[in-house]
Parts: sequence; C-alpha cells; structure tokens
Amino acid sequence: MVTRADIGVIGGSGFYSLLDDAEELQLATPYGLPSDVVTIGRIGSRSVAFIPRHGRDHRFPPHRIPYRANLWALRSLGVRQVLAPSAVGSLKAEYGPGALVVPDQLVDRTSGRVQTYYDTDGAVHVSFADPYCPSGRAAAVKRAQEGGWQTVDGGTLVVIEGPRFSTRAESQWYAANGWSIVGMTGFPEAILARELALCYTSISLVTDHDAGVEAGQGVTHDEVLEFFARNVTRMRTLVSETVQSLPEERTCSCGSALDGLKLPFELP
Ligand SMILES: [Zn+2]
Repeated sequence: MVTRADIGVIGGSGFYSLLDDAEELQLATPYGLPSDVVTIGRIGSRSVAFIPRHGRDHRFPPHRIPYRANLWALRSLGVRQVLAPSAVGSLKAEYGPGALVVPDQLVDRTSGRVQTYYDTDGAVHVSFADPYCPSGRAAAVKRAQEGGWQTVDGGTLVVIEGPRFSTRAESQWYAANGWSIVGMTGFPEAILARELALCYTSISLVTDHDAGVEAGQGVTHDEVLEFFARNVTRMRTLVSETVQSLPEERTCSCGSALDGLKLPFELP
C-alpha cells in the first residue's frame, strides 16, 4: 500500500475540508467495511486519515458502528495515534454546553457490543487501567486552553449503550459517583485502539446537561446536532492544532500494550 497516514481522526462530519490533497480510499478489513470511505490528506506536516464515525449520512447509530473495522483500517494505513472528537452530555452543573473535556478515565455501561479483536484462539488480556494516551491528552488540553475553551483536564466518561438517553435516575447515579460526562461511542472504540497498540485520545465537547443534572425534560437529538453544528468550525480548528502538536515519536506506553502477549494473528 502506497498511501499511508500517521494520525487517525474518528469524528463527525465537517472534518474533510481540513485535509489538504485529500484522497478517498475504500478499505476492506477482516471485520467488514469501515463506517465510510477513509479520507487521507495532510494537516501541516502530518499525514492524517479521517473516518466519519457514523458514516457521512449518519446511518450508523452508536451501537451499530463498525468499531473494529474503523480501528483496523486506520492501523493498516500506518496510523499509530488516534484522536476521537465526540459530543457528550455533562454530569456536572459547572460544565455547561461548550465545555471541552479531555477525560482520563472511562466507565463502560454498554451491553452486547463486540469489544475485542481476540475472541478466538486464546485469550489476550490487555491492560486498560488508564484507557487514554497521556501524550495525546496533554496535546489536546494545551491546545484547547490556548484556543480559549473552557477546558477540563481529566474526568470520567460514562459510555452508555443508547440509542436512548439516560433516565433521570441513571444520570443522578452517574453524577453521584463523581463521573463527569456521558456519551455513546467512546467504548469499545478506546479498548479496540488499545488492543491494536494505538494511542487514543477522547476530545469531548459538552452539548448539554444530562437528564439528572438539571430540572427539565432532558436533551433531544436535534438539540445535540444543532449545538454541534454551531461549534464544528471551532472543533475542526482544535483537532487540527492537536494533530500538529502530537509527538512525531511516541514516548508513551501505548505502543507496548501488547508486549509479551501471544497474539493469534499479526497486526496490520
Ligand atoms: Zn500514547
């Protein structure tokens, strides 16, 4: 394969125009097709592959996204660092719409999603104590602060199964545990990245308060999309700047996640 990329971005629409000399690739993987064609181009000196998580026409709901195919496709292009912008609900009154959270922990409340590549020919137990890349997180936090975002360095992302939103009681329970934000796509994306020894960084834009945090009817999907659309230009800038701030050589431990483990197949 001639076309390569160092950095992967899995996100919503609106990122294509960011890439110079963009080229589209239809990639097949052992796990089926990715969410859409992969767009490859450059941001500054960095080569970037972009996949719209839900497909360009938003045809995949969170529980149907081909997470394994997406991460596999990125790795097969040479990607070793992944940025994952997404929209989230806030569990804390002080983080309102427009806050930018770079979580350092995750709680999985999904059910029934395939969450591993290693489901045949023996068990592969990968450490997931710290699910996010420290280098990627530092780059995203620094750029968000410089960009004037209300930036939250750390916190816990609760990933729910969806596609429904939380009940008020669920939301209050998450908040009572001290968790920060709620989303539907951060898992299994994060663990699949780790299982491929990729760096993975969540860049979470708060679009609303979750149901239990404030009185009222809770959020609607239209409100989330409308808020995200209003902020997509700023998010593009933030992701673009973070891409250019990622280290050329990885010094984090993400790349050695599989050291000493016996894998049933070779990674791409
Ligand atoms: Zn890393």
